[in-house]
Parts: sequence; C-alpha cells; structure tokens
Amino acid sequence: MFHLKRFDFDLVEMRRSKINDLFEFPSVIDISPFKVEHLSDPSQPCQEDIFELVGVLVHQGTSENGHYYSYIRERPSPSGSMTQWLEFNDRDVDMFDHQSIPPYTFGGFYDDTFPRQQKNFSAYMLFYQRRSSIQQDHSEYMRSPFSGIAKVPVPSSLDKTIQDDNEGFVREYSLYDPCHTKFARQLLTNLRTINHGTCSEDHHQELQALSFVLEYLCQMLFRVKSTDIFDEIFLQLRKTMLSCPTCCHIALKWLATQEYALSNTLLQCLHPKARSLMRALLIDGLQFLREKDPAAYGIEGMDTDGETAHATPVTGILLEVVRRLESVVEESYVAARGWDDLYLTLCQLSNMGPVETSVLLSQGLLDFCLRIFCMHASPDIRTRDPEMWRVVEKKKRVYNRMIEFVYTLLSKMDINLPVVLDSRRVDRLEKYDRHGSKFTLSRDERYMLYLWHEENRALAALDRMLELFDHEKTEVFYPGEVLRWQLQSKDLRILRNIHTTIYEGVSMLQPPTSDPYVRAALAYCEACNDLAYVEQVIDAVAKAAHKLRDLGGQATIRFFRGLLHAENETILEERDADFFYEQCLVHSKRYSTSLLLFDDEGVRKATSQFLQELFTKYKDDAHATEKTLRPKYRAVRWLAAEMCAKIAEEHDQNTSRSYMQPMILICKILVRLLEQLQDTDDEVLENLRHPNDAANVQAYNYDLETQLQHWALDDDTPVSTGEGYEQSDYGSESDIGDDMLADL
Ligand SMILES: [Zn+2]
Repeated sequence: MFHLKRFDFDLVEMRRSKINDLFEFPSVIDISPFKVEHLSDPSQPCQEDIFELVGVLVHQGTSENGHYYSYIRERPSPSGSMTQWLEFNDRDVDMFDHQSIPPYTFGGFYDDTFPRQQKNFSAYMLFYQRRSSIQQDHSEYMRSPFSGIAKVPVPSSLDKTIQDDNEGFVREYSLYDPCHTKFARQLLTNLRTINHGTCSEDHHQELQALSFVLEYLCQMLFRVKSTDIFDEIFLQLRKTMLSCPTCCHIALKWLATQEYALSNTLLQCLHPKARSLMRALLIDGLQFLREKDPAAYGIEGMDTDGETAHATPVTGILLEVVRRLESVVEESYVAARGWDDLYLTLCQLSNMGPVETSVLLSQGLLDFCLRIFCMHASPDIRTRDPEMWRVVEKKKRVYNRMIEFVYTLLSKMDINLPVVLDSRRVDRLEKYDRHGSKFTLSRDERYMLYLWHEENRALAALDRMLELFDHEKTEVFYPGEVLRWQLQSKDLRILRNIHTTIYEGVSMLQPPTSDPYVRAALAYCEACNDLAYVEQVIDAVAKAAHKLRDLGGQATIRFFRGLLHAENETILEERDADFFYEQCLVHSKRYSTSLLLFDDEGVRKATSQFLQELFTKYKDDAHATEKTLRPKYRAVRWLAAEMCAKIAEEHDQNTSRSYMQPMILICKILVRLLEQLQDTDDEVLENLRHPNDAANVQAYNYDLETQLQHWALDDDTPVSTGEGYEQSDYGSESDIGDDMLADL
C-alpha cells in the first residue's frame, strides 16, 4: 500500500492545501531491491519479488472538501488477466478501462485545456498485491465450483433491500400515471357514494382511502410543476375531514405520523397555493376536531380558555401535530421558500388559545425562532445549528411570518414575570398567570431577548428582526410590535438597551439601512415611558431627516405623520395631549425642506399633504393653546422665508415646475397663514405677530407671483404636438412621464 500524501500545509497562506502534481506509477513493481535482505547486504544476489497494481484510491476536490472513489482490479477472474477493472463510486459500480489509469489517476494537467488547468482528482493511495498470491487465488478459484463468470450468492438482507428498491422505483414511476391521478381524485367521493353518504362503521375503508390520498398528495405536490390536479383532491379531503371527526382524526394522525408529510407539503412544496391549501386544511381540521372530539384532540376535561386548564396536554392530536411541526421547523433550513406558510400555520395555532400556545412553547418553538435572530451575535448559538446559520446568512425576505409568530407568542407573555427555568421540563400552563392571562418566559428565551450585541450596539434579537423584516410584504410592522412589548419591561438596563438600539440605529446608520429604525422609532415614541428618551429619538429622526437626499424619505415622512397622531399614556399624564403635535411643529424646520425636494415624487406629495394637515387641519387656532401656537407661528415664519428663497433659487436654475409644485403649494399656505395672522383680532394670536411679517408677506406674494407667471407647469404642456420634448428642458430627464416617452 502506498500513501501518496497529497495533503500539505501551506506555511505562506497558513492553511491546508492539496498537491495536484503529476505522479506516475507502474502497474508492476519489483520490490526486491527495497527489501531488508538486499539493503543490509547489497552484494548478495536478490530474487525478484513482483507486485501487481490491484487498486487505486482517488481523491477529488480540495483539502477542505472532496470525494473519494476507487478503481479496483477484478481478481480472481476466469481469464486471470490484469485488464479487468471496475470503478466503485458511492452507489455506482461500473466497468473501467485499465488504459485510462494514467489520465484518471496520475494527476497533473489536462492535455487539452488552454490556459493549462490542473486536475483536481488524482491517486491518493495505491494498492499492490504480490503476483504469487494473485496466482494462487486464481488457481484456487479455477478449481472451485464458482469459477467461470463471477457469481456470488446475494445475502438475504441485501436481496430484500434490492427488491424494496425496485418496488419503490416502480411505485414512484406509477405515481405519474394519469390513471393513478384519476383514481386518487375519485376515491374519496366514490367511497361516500358507496356508503350512501356516510362513513363505514369501523372506518377501515376510510382509513385506507385517506392514507392513500394523503400519501399521493404528499408525494406528488413535492414533485410536479402544476397544481391544477390537486384542487379537487384538496376539496375532497376537506369535505371528508370536516364532516366526520373520526375521518378528521385519521387524516391528522397520518399527517403527524409520516415523517415527510408536513415537510413536503408545507415547507418544500414549490407551489404557494398548494402550501396555503395545506395550511388551511391542517388548521381547519384541528379546529374541527377540537370542537367535535376534545378527547382525540387532547383537551378533554380542560377549560380551554386557560382560566382553569392547569396542564399542557400530554397526549392527543394537537400535541402530535405540534411535535411534527417542530421537527419540520428544526429541519427547515432545507427550503426557505415555505417559511412563511410554516410560521403562519404556527401563528394561527397559537391564536387558537392558551392550550395551543402552551404546547408550542413547551415544544421550544419560541426558543428556536429567537435563536435564529440571535445567531449573528452568538458563536455558541451558531455552532449549535450550522446548517441553519448558512441559510440565515444568505436568505432575505423570508422572515416576516417568523417575526409575526415571535410577536404572537410574546403578546401572550409577560416580560416582568419570573422566568421558568427549564422550558422543556416545566409545564408552561402550570406557570400561567391567570390574573393577567399571560405566560412566563423561559430562562433561555429571556436570555436571547435581552442579549446585547456589543459590535452592533443593539439588542441582538430586536435588531435582527428590524433588519430582516420586509415591510413591503406585510402591513403590520411586527418588529415594532415586539419593541412595544419589550418596552413593558421594568428592567432599567433593558430599557436603556432598547433606547440605544433605536437611537443609534436612527442617528448612526444611513438610509436605507436606517429605515427600519425610523419605522420602529414611531412604535418607540408610542410605547416608551421615558419622556427624555422619546425626545431624544424624535430629535434623532429630525436631525437625520435634515440630511436626507434620495433615500429614507418614505420612512421619515411616515414617522412624522404617525407621530402627529401618536398616543402615549405616560407622556399624556406627564406633559399634555399636544406633546407630539408640538414636536412635529418644532422639528418641521429640519425635515420639511429636504423632504419637499425629494427625488421620489411620492415623498414630495406625502410631505406636502402632511404639512397641510400639520399647519391647517390638525388643530384649529381657536382651540389651540398659546403653548402650541407659539412654535407653530415661529415655524410658519421660518419655513415661509426658507421656502420662498428655495423656490426662487430653483426657478433660476430652471428646475421643473411640477417637481417644485408640492413646495410651492405649502409655501403659499404658509404665506397665507402669516397674512391671516395680520388680520386677526384674536388677542393670543396678535401677540405672536412679528414686526417684519407684513413687509415679508408682501415681498413673498410678489416674488411668487412673478416667478409662477412664466414658469409653465409641465403637466399642462400639450405633449402630442411634439412641443413636449422641447419644453422638457425645464426639468431633468426623469421628469418625462411614461406617456411622454411613448410619444417620443
Ligand atoms: Zn368518517
């Protein structure tokens, strides 16, 4: 046996490397010159000792990963020749031409590539056998009853495997037969017809039929391109399951017992519609059984609203299904496409009641999700589940339902209750707080919710949920809901950490990375009990808004629009109902101009609408206090001056009029407000006048009018005459609308 030692350690790169160099070896070797006898006394004549090459172990790949396979010479064989070789490569065994030994095993370079390329496969170990021993085997073999073509009796265990394998192959082949599909489609309907619309007494036929149809569904959904043929099968299954508790029980039991069933249909199935039909079938089936057969469901004798239920079920379909779902979740790294369906199923289960939630918690599902959101911050958690980490590192846009599920569970829990030490051993319902109708966290769950990631300066789980949530896909901003829930904590350390997470996310990051933090800032302002913290966060959003150019506008304008209507009870008590209104007014100098000049037309229009609301609709001056009127008119005066100057500047630079329109509109409104302030005889308002107001208003009105007179609105420009193109000189190319481009 020769070991060719093709793995080395590269001291320059400080890592393992593979040697792919050419190494030739003979098919016959005389080893007598290397034997001890000869080496100790080279003067003695040495007798030839011939070895023949009988096996080559090849390594393909790099030093980090690769694959081994073998070429083995057939011996003994009837011919006794050296040329009968076989290739053994995992489950594939094939004839091998011995003349290919050099190109397939010597390594070195390919002959026919340019630039020259090194082969990544080459002999790793060589096996030689003494010629005399081969010859002896051969002669014994030729005398034995098995001589001739090699035939070895198949061991019975192997024989069974081969038969099963062949049967499986035929079955899989038959799955695609159109007649098979037709049979599956009609089976349940025909069964009911035969039994005159009811089920058989012992349910034997139904058991057979349901198992067959479900098996068919679980095997096929996973494999085929179109799902049209399944609509009817789903319909038949629903009818059967939701009309008879026994049938329902049979079907759910089957789904919970078969290892691949829920994994294939909820997680790995390629068709969103089929995944969603499966989810509905599962949830509706469970709900039906819960109502019709509580014993089979696992809640007999329990008060399911959680008031008196003292123990999580230890038997029953609910538990079996959740256990199966938990194992699907554990292996969900195999396909992220079904995550939304899987976690929506879990959300719906949790919303069925405290018993269901307790089963989900006891099976460690909250723990699992939190681990996913903490992986980036904890090497320990990553090492525990390397397959999942590989997915989490790469995948985006698949976490919305998982985050919703985390929130769904957290919303049923109290962050301030003492924790359960071992969530898998302690019954979560036993520790249920019946006063507040809340569950307690486990120690591990709390650990992950509190986990601080020093590098990101953020609470790991919250931070990651903010980062991964795709706000365009889901209406409710669930990370914000998790944030609100966490803000209920009485632990000052966690409150400070939440604040740092949001405050630094808004102020230190750039859009679009900072967008989720700006979105979360609104939830923060509504739920945080600390006035100083809230003021800091609003200030941070406003400061960041001042610097925005072409990103982050949507999130920012949404924040202020939300803030104007935000409610926070603690702040209401400590300050007054106008706190957020006042904040919007005070900071308007910072965000208004930059947002009104945004590239994104949607942002310009939304800002214009918001400012109209803020200055004219939200609160009538007659009902406002001096405390809010003062900052309001200060902002009006400041913004009017700033915007008039800005409009003049853009006018001189030939900026498109329609681009400026949202700002022009607001500017006019502001000037109007100053005008009205001159005319009022309200005592409070009179005090807010400034000596320069009258002169300024006159100047603004005059300037605006002269500019607007010769500043054509490009929207009004007739485009069909071809003048549209020339007149689009007013603006940049992006101002040309789609229909205008069509005309060009
Ligand atoms: Zn039935």
